[in-house]
Amino acid sequence: MGNTQRAHAILSASGSKRWLSCPPSAKLEEQFPESTSEFAEEGTYAHSFAELKLRGYITTDLKPSVYKKKLAEIKKDPFYSQSLDDYIEQYINIVGEKYLAAKKNSSDSFVMLEQKLDFSEWVPDGFGTGDVVLISPGILEIVDLKYGQGVPVSAEGNTQMRLYALGALNQYGMLYDFDKIKMTIIQPRLDSISEDEITVQELLDWGESVVKPTADMAIAGEGEFKSGDHCQFCRAKAVCRKRAEDNLEMARYEFEDPNILSNDEIADILAKAAELQKWASDVQAYALDQAENHGVKFTGWKLVEGRSNRKYTDEDAVATKLKDEGYASDVIYQPQKIWGISEMEKKIGKRLFADYLTEFVVKPAGKATLVPESDKRPEISSVASAVRDFDDLYENKLQHETEKIPDDILN
Ligand code: SF4
Repeated sequence: MGNTQRAHAILSASGSKRWLSCPPSAKLEEQFPESTSEFAEEGTYAHSFAELKLRGYITTDLKPSVYKKKLAEIKKDPFYSQSLDDYIEQYINIVGEKYLAAKKNSSDSFVMLEQKLDFSEWVPDGFGTGDVVLISPGILEIVDLKYGQGVPVSAEGNTQMRLYALGALNQYGMLYDFDKIKMTIIQPRLDSISEDEITVQELLDWGESVVKPTADMAIAGEGEFKSGDHCQFCRAKAVCRKRAEDNLEMARYEFEDPNILSNDEIADILAKAAELQKWASDVQAYALDQAENHGVKFTGWKLVEGRSNRKYTDEDAVATKLKDEGYASDVIYQPQKIWGISEMEKKIGKRLFADYLTEFVVKPAGKATLVPESDKRPEISSVASAVRDFDDLYENKLQHETEKIPDDILN
């Protein structure tokens, strides 16, 4: 791999939050292989499908007959499902609305799809692909589709979007006069649309004062290691010394009462427990992989066979044998079972699922979970406080009714 390719690989836009927070992680990561998942492949397919649909509906650069043919072809892919089609339709509608608004603003507005955006002026050999770039007078807009169904990603201060915006500005800033940049992340499977806006000057200042010097440090393997949320996307996360030290430091606790924890101490531990758990399970997964697939021995530990369940070698042969022995079908086969909600939605599509089945779907209250106060979900009352409220209500009611009883009866 040449130096420039290497820089592109280690200073990727998608990993920018990590290497901007912890510059030496870029070089440290190089020692660990990248893994590609089935989800990433599905995401790539969803992007191709979305691009084709945008070309059919918005840029209309394909003849209708060619578009139809390509659509029929792409639908043959194993990743295609009606629900994917519905989700991409939602994304297309949002992009369509943005495009119409830009056109209304000026007929000179135009859209570009899957544009290579070169931000190498700030990051060595930095480039990425912008799903949608909308150019209209004074405004440069970048739209990014994220097809995963993990967690909602915010566009606010999002470094990947900002790097793409720098790339777009680099390419089109000479031709058009922009004042502001808009950035939108659309995650149709999570019903999430997140937007951010920044002036051109703010973006350029960030590029010069933050990105450029940090990228130079990162490529040279310099700078300070810094652990945080960004560690979860780091390939060195299981063996990184800094992350281990910070977690072990977190676990060291100065207890006031040596025997019993106070509620404040428990609250403090809860805040640290989530990160500690993540770190511990990363280390466990790494150690298992090393022991199982690379023959590594860890002192005091050994590899053993886990529990397993018996299984039939040939289900058809089992059924035939039992039929021959005179057993009825209901003894041999399980009753037919309806597909679960997510699977059914995937099979018939989100829209038709809503049309046909909404009235048959309920969402029971979820199990109580303890989360930090910053969580967006509204607080629910505890069982104890509900009992207290009921007792108060009952007492008030009793008091009220007692007041209504004439004195002569009470006496
Ligand atoms: S695990 Fe965290 S602290 Fe360690 S190199 Fe990666 S990002 Fe930096």
